Amino acid sequence: MIGLKPEEAFEGCKTLLSIQPHPDDTDIGAGGLVARLSSQGCRVIYVTTTDGGGGTTDPSISWEELSRIRKGEQQAAAKILGVSELIWLEYRDSELRPSLELRNRLITLIRRYRPDVVLTVDPWLPYEAHPDHIATGLAASEAFFFSNLTNINREDLEKGLQPYTPKYIAYYWSKNPNLYIDISDLIDVKKRAMSAHKSQFTPEAIELLVKYDEMLGSRAGYRYAEAFKILNQLALHINVAAEML
Ligand SMILES: [Zn+2]
Repeated sequence: MIGLKPEEAFEGCKTLLSIQPHPDDTDIGAGGLVARLSSQGCRVIYVTTTDGGGGTTDPSISWEELSRIRKGEQQAAAKILGVSELIWLEYRDSELRPSLELRNRLITLIRRYRPDVVLTVDPWLPYEAHPDHIATGLAASEAFFFSNLTNINREDLEKGLQPYTPKYIAYYWSKNPNLYIDISDLIDVKKRAMSAHKSQFTPEAIELLVKYDEMLGSRAGYRYAEAFKILNQLALHINVAAEML
């Protein structure tokens, strides 16, 4: 339907743009996929929308200090997974709301990097309470949807950027995934990348995250898997079948 072939979404992917709320999200939701694509020569770019300064229960760490620590952790994890570029939009952690400004900044990045696939969190996950996840997933979806329309964020064109639509948008942490990727041979590298986010995860927490990938794998006949909802531009508007695709 409407040219959607989830199983082919990452085939021949030359550029992947991952738009994430926090420094650790992509590594947890899609670190295996990122490791695989980068090893195949795909350029992987991470855009992190917030500064990550809110993610602690330790009163001795200030907002600025945590934000700095988490940037370092993300750089270490990016090296392990082969991520080529890290872009920080620096909105305040825990307070992100969907905005035209955020959407338009993402449109500019899509037009600049012209990714084959945009990767992000699923903003329609039932019971998702974190506003940064909802806002980031929504803004990324809007940017993906509008980036080929010339009158939207027209300043880009005046700066020499061209309208562009990536082939697919891929959501992780999705209720109804339509693609499972076998990451059994990549679970160790993914574990190392997740463990680089030391301020966020104890070794016990890492084991729980690995169990989650094991649960996803059991749904698809793999030892460990990551799951994605793959959609294209036509699926993202007045498409009553999109949930079932
Ligand atoms: Zn997050």
